Amino acid sequence: MAFYGGIEAGGTKFVCAVGSGPDDIRATLKYPTTHPDETIRKAIEFFREQQEKHGPLAAIGVAAFGPLDPRPESPTYGYITSTPKPGWANVDLLGVLQQALPVPLGFDTDVNGAALGEWRWGAAQGLDTFIYLTIGTGIGGGAVVHGRPVHGLLHPEMGHVRLPHDWQADPFPGNCPYHGDCLEGMANGPAIEKRWGQRAETLPADHPAWEIEAGYLAYGLASLICTLSPQRIILGGGVMQQTHLFPMVRRKTQAYLNGYVQAPQILEEIDDYIVPPGLGGNAGILGAFVLAQLAAGMD
Ligand code: ADP
Ligand code: ZN
Repeated sequence: MAFYGGIEAGGTKFVCAVGSGPDDIRATLKYPTTHPDETIRKAIEFFREQQEKHGPLAAIGVAAFGPLDPRPESPTYGYITSTPKPGWANVDLLGVLQQALPVPLGFDTDVNGAALGEWRWGAAQGLDTFIYLTIGTGIGGGAVVHGRPVHGLLHPEMGHVRLPHDWQADPFPGNCPYHGDCLEGMANGPAIEKRWGQRAETLPADHPAWEIEAGYLAYGLASLICTLSPQRIILGGGVMQQTHLFPMVRRKTQAYLNGYVQAPQILEEIDDYIVPPGLGGNAGILGAFVLAQLAAGMD
């Protein structure tokens, strides 16, 4: 069986792994994202060591935080582009890896990668149009439409859709540096923390924070459902470890759509429509394996 590498290149941490699928992750290395030189060098050393142990990698997939350039024809293909993350703007992530590791490389957003992982092995098997959304330090969405990850102009920025904001009910101004109270600005983990003065993971399940959180997520999902007509929406990321959010988000999404989208998946079977990742926290790194498989020309 072919042997792949994967990098889940996050703004907070990098995860590197080698293997071929969920039942065959042979080695993993996790470390905090620091200066690009050091961060990328650690990945290169890991893959070199693994190749010495296990033999050559057929390809390596890189699923990265963005914004990034996923267009192979572009001169800045494989770059992290306009990120506010210190040191990381205009970094040629893929180029540096390619120089050190002469194997085919796949490249996409972390969320498109996670969507592909869920498609192959997780909660999106058999579908052709669906969304993977992460609710964590940021909010980002990947979409597979007609069996292909969506790029378009650059790549979708589903976390930055605008929402109704009732300033009286929720005076928090939002924390997006670009938009203030967009979906990410109102509903990412740091927004919860700033609004309530304590980390999201320390808030009890009956705290009013969660009704507000579920409301913003449901506005976002209702917009995405109307825009892309996904056959399923997968919600991952740290904040969604609060599993009581799922029924709240489902109920509010139904309420905001108000019966307009006449599909049994939404009207009756919403428990199977808005779901957690089938691969849990491994969606990202397994998605990177799928990017590697695609780069190696395997299906
Ligand atoms: P990242 O987005 O940085 O890759 P995560 O998806 O873990 O990483 O998101 C981190 C954010 O999620 C933080 O704001 C943190 O407070 C929040 N978070 C992490 N775990 C939980 C939890 N169990 N419940 C609620 N919020 C959480
Ligand atoms: Zn924004």
